[in-house]
Amino acid sequence: MIRETPSVLVVGTAQDGGYPQIGCPAVCCERVRRNPENRRLPASLALIMEDSFYMIDCTPSLGEQLLRIEKTTGFTMDDCAGIFLTHAHYGHYIGLPLLGLEVMHRQGIPVYVMPQMESFLRNNAPFSQLISLGNIQLLSLSENIPVPLGAISITPLPVQHRNEFSETVGFSIKGKEKSILYIPDIDSWEGIDICQLIKEHEVALLDGTFYDRKELKNRKISKIPHPTIRESMDKFAALNSGEKRKIHFTHLNHTNPLLDANSEAYNHFSSSGFNLTVDGLLIHI
Ligand SMILES: [Zn+2]
Ligand SMILES: [Zn+2]
Ligand SMILES: [Zn+2]
Repeated sequence: MIRETPSVLVVGTAQDGGYPQIGCPAVCCERVRRNPENRRLPASLALIMEDSFYMIDCTPSLGEQLLRIEKTTGFTMDDCAGIFLTHAHYGHYIGLPLLGLEVMHRQGIPVYVMPQMESFLRNNAPFSQLISLGNIQLLSLSENIPVPLGAISITPLPVQHRNEFSETVGFSIKGKEKSILYIPDIDSWEGIDICQLIKEHEVALLDGTFYDRKELKNRKISKIPHPTIRESMDKFAALNSGEKRKIHFTHLNHTNPLLDANSEAYNHFSSSGFNLTVDGLLIHI
């Protein structure tokens, strides 16, 4: 049991659909169905405090993520002090109804949200029912304003993304000893001083959805923009090796060839000085 606090426990590192992805008969997902120890849950973090924990994002795999938290820390849902949401895309908030009447029926779980996210949840079922039944209580976030949580603080950072239902934020988590930058979903690094942000944090968990622009066979990659890992490696090429080592790519799509340790891409990546995040990574902050 690990209870060195505060810590960040990475409880998911896949894109919204998880890995393997439902309905994908291709080798990318067949490979992991045969080797389920390599599964990855949708991207999410748990902030482990001395006597409670917070979630960052509320994924459709919340149940399995809670089991992982319990196995590592002993904490159960009774110890959940709140949930911070990045945005209204499937893998980041659709676990919320698990807190409601049909499943756990919790009372007053604090859910920290930006303004458009708040209005989306208040005005759309089934989320509106979570509020009217008191399962969750919404607390407002403002961009770049830190929320103090005892010894640590968490600050929402606005980022560019396909914002159909809500704005999107990443988070800067300032611990006692280390700070973590968490940006799982972004359209591009334009408009954000990402190199400066990396310098200001000890660890950067960044959008690594796609490795390059060739991997999507059936979907138009222009409709789902992300900086590819290859483009990000080019952008970060000028950073020194210590800065590069801080970068851990996360939110990996099932098509990402880095999920296959025998791929040419993995071979190239593993000598680049950057890291790939894994489910279960624990960072003392
Ligand atoms: Zn996502
Ligand atoms: Zn697949
Ligand atoms: Zn998204």
